[in-house]
Amino acid sequence: MTDILSMNVSELTEFVLGIGEEKYRAKQLYTWLHKGASLDEMTNIPKKMKEKLAEKAIIPAVKIEEKFVSADGTVKYLFKCYDGEYIESVFMRYEHGNTVCVSSQAGCRMGCKFCASTLNGLKRSLNASEMLSQIYTAQKDTGERVSNVVIMGMGEPFDNYDNVVRFIRLLNDENGLNIGCRHISVSTCGLVEKIDRFADEGLPVTLSVSLHAPTNAQRDEIMPVNRKYPIELLLSACKRYFEKTGRRISFEYALIDGKNNGEADAEKLAELLKSNLPGMPIHVNLIPVNPIKERDFRRGDRIMTEKFVKTLENRGVNATVRRRLGADIDASCGQLRARKYEENGLNSKI
Ligand code: SAH
Repeated sequence: MTDILSMNVSELTEFVLGIGEEKYRAKQLYTWLHKGASLDEMTNIPKKMKEKLAEKAIIPAVKIEEKFVSADGTVKYLFKCYDGEYIESVFMRYEHGNTVCVSSQAGCRMGCKFCASTLNGLKRSLNASEMLSQIYTAQKDTGERVSNVVIMGMGEPFDNYDNVVRFIRLLNDENGLNIGCRHISVSTCGLVEKIDRFADEGLPVTLSVSLHAPTNAQRDEIMPVNRKYPIELLLSACKRYFEKTGRRISFEYALIDGKNNGEADAEKLAELLKSNLPGMPIHVNLIPVNPIKERDFRRGDRIMTEKFVKTLENRGVNATVRRRLGADIDASCGQLRARKYEENGLNSKI
């Protein structure tokens, strides 16, 4: 069975010719597929061709398993994949347009201590089609168009590199969603070789780097990936990414009480960024940690957070505290899926 939703127009053309149909059908089919249509909904595709497609192809669309709507309009989805895996996505309404936060893997093997996505390890990586389908399904469900995509849901995008790059190229396609790189962000825990490879793809998307600590000792403790790619290596890859793409880098920093949220931590963070990335446009995105019940991480109080921001700003480092959209519906990656696993009596490796 061929996954036709992961194909670009020229691959789909080959496929359509291969099943004995005319070339122009490929464009029709592509347009339907990328509206999120099922075979039944494709009104100008002949029945014979649909029969061949049903026999030879699959459209691995995700299905809504559960849905939560926040008072602020944010919608959180638990989707079920064709093979029964669960993944999560979040639909957010911003002034600059609707944004979907997409998962790139079912589970994750990076092992960040504060993150719920990693609790049951990695089940599998998602195909480009399954990443697209999260957006198409959210569009259909809300009846609204999505104009921005952030690959910041479950999983480590650079641990599923080829599919994520394919997904971004399909997002760019004018016969599909036609979303430009400026409206796409990809978030990584810091796989250095992949950051370098990504810089050469000609896809100037915003890179978000999950830093979460100002020193290697602190980062080692909460992010196992740091033992392989310590902070200095990571920041030099960020510098190369900026030099090649011209895109500002955004750093994610989850504020965890007593671990990384003190004034001294803010001072160290400012010094770290300024000395390693002199003159580079950067932005620090502070996220008061979202406590997960399996771990004992808490957020500090508002005053601590405000002090942290001030300390960074006084040292010339641009920082904002992330607005908490969907705070009332557990809209933090991995939490719904972890709950589903628990309900189904599946073991979790905690
Ligand atoms: N694997 C990618 C995407 C992960 S999710 C990465 O590591 O960047 C997107 C962001 O949410 C990351 O910065 C991640 O570290 C952060 N995050 C995960 N769990 C969190 C939690 N419980 N509280 C706050 N931020 C969290």
